[in-house]
Amino acid sequence: MKYKFGTALILSSSLLLSQSSFYVNAEEKSNEQTENTSKSISFEQAQKMNPKELTNLLTDEDLKLHNKVAEHQSTELETNRNTNEAYQNVNGYIDQNNIKPSAITQDTRMNSLPKYDYKSDKFIGVVIHETANPNSTIDEEINYMYNNYESAFVHAYAGSSKIVQTASSDYLAWGAGAKANPYFYQIELAQSSTFDQFAKSVNNQAYLTAKMLDQNGLKPSLADHNEGTGTVISHNVISQYYGGTDHTDPINYFSQWGYDMDQFYSLVQKHYNQLNEASDTVTGDTHTVASGDTLYNISQRSGVSVDNIKELNDLSSNDLTVGQVLKLK
Ligand SMILES: [Zn+2]
Repeated sequence: MKYKFGTALILSSSLLLSQSSFYVNAEEKSNEQTENTSKSISFEQAQKMNPKELTNLLTDEDLKLHNKVAEHQSTELETNRNTNEAYQNVNGYIDQNNIKPSAITQDTRMNSLPKYDYKSDKFIGVVIHETANPNSTIDEEINYMYNNYESAFVHAYAGSSKIVQTASSDYLAWGAGAKANPYFYQIELAQSSTFDQFAKSVNNQAYLTAKMLDQNGLKPSLADHNEGTGTVISHNVISQYYGGTDHTDPINYFSQWGYDMDQFYSLVQKHYNQLNEASDTVTGDTHTVASGDTLYNISQRSGVSVDNIKELNDLSSNDLTVGQVLKLK
């Protein structure tokens, strides 16, 4: 694993003021990292391993360095909420009201976060969190995260009207403890106060989960009933099968709205299948990016590898824009 300096963008006067302290911290981390000789394993190997095998690969240095958990403990904070109210079926409500996912945006502050490689080259699944904070908005949660990133940070937040990517998917995040952080993409669900908002927010979280799996060449499978092996996993099941954390989210919060991980997983499958419907073969020298296209599915459809497409088009990230014309030869 290696540490790379983030490109700090000067976004505001407050960031400008904090710049000097950031570089001091980055320097310290860089020194710390030079002692870390831990080797990674391949993405393909990692996908075939169970939680015990994966955690056994982690060195003392890995465990020390990534021992961070996002600040939420759902069991304690939510006991005062009404859990007896009967709600209608969340997934049915999403279908009946034809609720569409919000656009995915990226917070440019992600460039200033620590950049540590995954143990498995790429992430092997997605951890489902919820913030356990009924009193703060998604924006407040995200601001808090950037102000306290040395304690914890996650890759993305889903709310009822937005999906915000807060850390690069190319590097690990600090949200689910030392044993799972080196392997997973991690998404927080911001809390809602109405059923309609909850349905929209969980639809956004499921959509981003499907999108990230698809983008990384992973198929959906639920880890929660499979002893922790699978590509969609609750923080609760990380605690049970990986360890290094004892949080139980998002189970209690989901259940307050009559929801559970099985229903969430079927929503992920719906989005994953929709993303893959546009699966016509791509031929010719160029391809114009359509809604739902990812580098991975264009690669599958054209037979040109993701790396080749990136090289031909001088792409430094996996992000595509609708209407963008990609060279394939
Ligand atoms: Zn969590």
